[in-house]
Amino acid sequence: MSNILSTEIKFLQGVGPKRAELLQKELGIFTFSDLLYFYPYKHIDRSKIYKISEINEDLPYIQIVGKILRFDESGVGRNKRLNAIFSDGSGSVELVWFKGIAWMAKWLKPNVEYLVFGKASRFGSRMSIAHPEMEEYLFGQEKIMGALQPVYSTTEKLKSNRISSKTILGLQQSLQSIIVGKLEETLPPYIIEQHKLMTLPEAMRNIHFPQSVILLRKAEHRLKFEELFYIQLGILLRQSVRQTRVNGHVFSKVGDMFNRFYHEKLPFPLTEAQKRVIREIRKDLGSGKQMNRLLQGDVGSGKTVVALMSMLIAVDNGYQACIMAPTEILAIQHYESIAALLEGLPVSVGLLTGSTRRSERNNLHKSLEAGELNILIGTHALLEDVVKFKNLGLTVIDEQQRFGVLQRAKLWEKNDDPPHILVMTATPIPRTLAMTLYGDLEVSVIDELPPGRKPVKTLHYTDLKRNVVFGKIREQIKAGRQVYVVYPLIKESEKMENLKDLQDGYESIVRAFPPPEYVTVVVHGQMKPEDKDFSMSLFVKGKAHIMVATTVIEVGVNVPNATVMVIESAERFGLSQLHQLRGRVGRGADESYCILMSQVKLSVDSRKRLETMVSTNDGFEIAEVDLKLRGPGDIEGTMQSGTPIELKLASLSTDSQLLQYARGVAKSILTTDPLLSNPQNIKLLQRLNEIAEAKNDLSRIS
Ligand code: ADP
Ligand code: MG
Repeated sequence: MSNILSTEIKFLQGVGPKRAELLQKELGIFTFSDLLYFYPYKHIDRSKIYKISEINEDLPYIQIVGKILRFDESGVGRNKRLNAIFSDGSGSVELVWFKGIAWMAKWLKPNVEYLVFGKASRFGSRMSIAHPEMEEYLFGQEKIMGALQPVYSTTEKLKSNRISSKTILGLQQSLQSIIVGKLEETLPPYIIEQHKLMTLPEAMRNIHFPQSVILLRKAEHRLKFEELFYIQLGILLRQSVRQTRVNGHVFSKVGDMFNRFYHEKLPFPLTEAQKRVIREIRKDLGSGKQMNRLLQGDVGSGKTVVALMSMLIAVDNGYQACIMAPTEILAIQHYESIAALLEGLPVSVGLLTGSTRRSERNNLHKSLEAGELNILIGTHALLEDVVKFKNLGLTVIDEQQRFGVLQRAKLWEKNDDPPHILVMTATPIPRTLAMTLYGDLEVSVIDELPPGRKPVKTLHYTDLKRNVVFGKIREQIKAGRQVYVVYPLIKESEKMENLKDLQDGYESIVRAFPPPEYVTVVVHGQMKPEDKDFSMSLFVKGKAHIMVATTVIEVGVNVPNATVMVIESAERFGLSQLHQLRGRVGRGADESYCILMSQVKLSVDSRKRLETMVSTNDGFEIAEVDLKLRGPGDIEGTMQSGTPIELKLASLSTDSQLLQYARGVAKSILTTDPLLSNPQNIKLLQRLNEIAEAKNDLSRIS
């Protein structure tokens, strides 16, 4: 059967080369299979035909049957319209068109019975339906169509080429008749039975042409389950293979370096959350299995010291460790703070970034291979092949979302036996998303900030209140503090426009805060790296009062003396970005402020985002609101790189229970059959391979 489904779409009756090209370009439908998996986005109930005397504007889309009594065109230019009076004997309704008038006027015939479908609304004393769907009525046709009629999404381009939802419906009908009895099940029978799922052929028939609402829901359930199940199975299988085949380095003891650091060097007591996480990590490191752990902790929660203490366990057991940061500035900051914390202990620490000088680099490489260097801190430069460790035992990756899964894999390959991996992120990830994106990682959470932190005060002002904001900035600078002013980086395509915003902003800041009394630097993504680093370093060293920037500062810099974060056009930022930016202040002992500037008029979602920021500092709460506001579409975008399956029906924001269920099913299968070698599970492996292949089929990228 797979050969039927892989048939090119142009061979389907009613398609042909021209339509095939349109379907490919506009909807990504290349094959029969693509069409089959192109689900309707809704179904409409066409089982009932209303009388015109019954209809009112509170009804949803309705159907009526009747005849055109008369029609005429009126107005000129943009106001041109076509009106028809439509009657079924019980009453009459007006049908109105603003577009396609000439074509409709030619098509409409008196004395023909039409089936009209649309939403009624009231204009003055008369009910009217704008741009109704119409077709000639065949007696009793509503019964043949079935109760629920699928509606497929189309594009303007398709519509102008006369490919409507109806056309696609017709294609789906031909396809269904071709595949009848030939569609092969994609789940093993025992899973279908145990979990009382619809079979694939049944589900495919009912997702397109459901016999009832109940059957439609069952079909959705089966197909959603399958999507989520295979994602989870793929992720968990990877983990299972790793654990079966790969042994982890055993760090059996906590030794001198860890203990001396803890008792002699640590400048503060650890929070309970930090202690708990270190215990979790220690347990993993001693288990004989390779650790893959995600450490989530809000900005400022103290992840660095947890990473450092984990690295010291590696050192105590005769291994090397490394920490990889997404930017040079961040790597340098890690290096400086870790070197300072370790001062006086016989642990050697190196720094390797893109701008490390060649001679120094060679030395680093040598001492690394000789095993003289215990801890290496750096950027992507660590991934280069020339960087070889003697015995890398632990890799820490900071700010995960900046690194792809592939890069993670590359780090595993650094040694014959892969090192333990600790991934740290300051972006709290809702559970469902974490399970999908990082489902092969165990998760630790630091859910407590160090004591004495004053939460950042968040204020929202409209652009009209700029004077108040400037006053606040002046007051803070007078008190010796520093200020960030951030502009949104909207889209690649709007780079220039955005730069103009930034420059205008910079100029108005300089006008309000003139040199030499005030020093303002500017930082944005299109600057040469040297210039950027120079501006950054002026600010980091306290030589500039104000930094005007795009979101390049989103990740990284730690300037405890900065107490004000002004975010311009805050309504254009996503919630997690706003939260990340806010985390740049409030790092010292002083009261800090995050000031959200926006225009006066705001969309409902923008207002909700800004209100959420003002009302809470809790990153997880913010992440949950974010997931709800953004909905599934956007999140799937985030997922693209992370998972092999496109979610067509299931949604991470609304199907979290089913996700958890599907994960449970996948887990229990792997518990008894860790490599899926049991004959009844062969189908599962095959399907995972098919999915991976489909994903790698580059010919589809048009
Ligand atoms: P993040 O989790 O954002 O990486 P850092 O590790 O940079 O946070 O820590 C932020 C600041 O908090 C640092 O200056 C660090 O020294 C300090 N810090 C970390 N843990 C504690 C603690 N238990 N008590 C007091 N200060 C701490
Ligand atoms: Mg950090």
